[in-house]
Amino acid sequence: MRIVLVGPPGAGKGTQAAFLAKNLSIPHISTGDLFRANISQGTELGKQAKAFMDAGNLVPDEVTIGMAKDRMEQPDAVNGFLLDGFPRNVSQAEALDVALKADEVKLDAVLDLEVPEDEVVKRIAGRRICRKDSAHVFHVSYNQPKQEGVCDVCGGELYQREDDSEDTVRKRLEVYHTQTEPIIDYYRAQGLVRTISALGKVDEVTARAMDALKRDK
Ligand SMILES: [Zn+2]
Repeated sequence: MRIVLVGPPGAGKGTQAAFLAKNLSIPHISTGDLFRANISQGTELGKQAKAFMDAGNLVPDEVTIGMAKDRMEQPDAVNGFLLDGFPRNVSQAEALDVALKADEVKLDAVLDLEVPEDEVVKRIAGRRICRKDSAHVFHVSYNQPKQEGVCDVCGGELYQREDDSEDTVRKRLEVYHTQTEPIIDYYRAQGLVRTISALGKVDEVTARAMDALKRDK
C-alpha cells in the first residue's frame, strides 16, 4: 500500500506511522529521517538542503521532493510506503503525483488523523522534558512524574521546551490549517481520504487506522 499520513502537530503521527508501517510491512518514510540521511551521506540533495538550513532558510520544495522520490524508488519501497511529513502543501502533493505517475504507481490512501485543537494544545503544552536526557518525556496530565518537576528516570530537572509553549503550538496549528489542510481537500477530490479520530490510547488509534485502511473508501 502507498499511504500518506496527515494530521496536525500533536496528533501522534510519528508514533502511528511507526506502528502502521510495521503492521503493513512497508517502510516509514519521514521527512525528518530523509533530511538526516541525505545530509549525513553527503548526497547532492543533502548538500543543497544543508546550505539552505545553514543560512536559516526553508528547504525548497524541489529539494524535499527529490529526496522523497529517491527514497520511494529504493527496493524496499517497491510494494508500498508510508509518507509522514510529506507532502506538506498542495504544490508538494502535485509534485508527488507527477513523481508517482512517472513510476506508474498511485497512492492507495491518505490517512487523516483528527484531533480537536484544544486537545492538541493540551497534549503539546503539557509536555515536560528532562534537561539531562531529552528521551525522558513526561506530561503534566497524561504521564505525571512521581515528583513534580523531577525526572523519574534520572532525577534531572523537567522543563517545557520553547517550541511546546501554547503560543508556539497555536502558531504551528495556524500553519497547518493554511498550508497542510488544503491537501486533504486535494486528495478528497481523488477519493483517497480516510479520516479517523486520533483520540485514545496509541494501540486503539492504530487499530482504528488499520480498519480504515482496509475498508473501501
Ligand atoms: Zn531524566
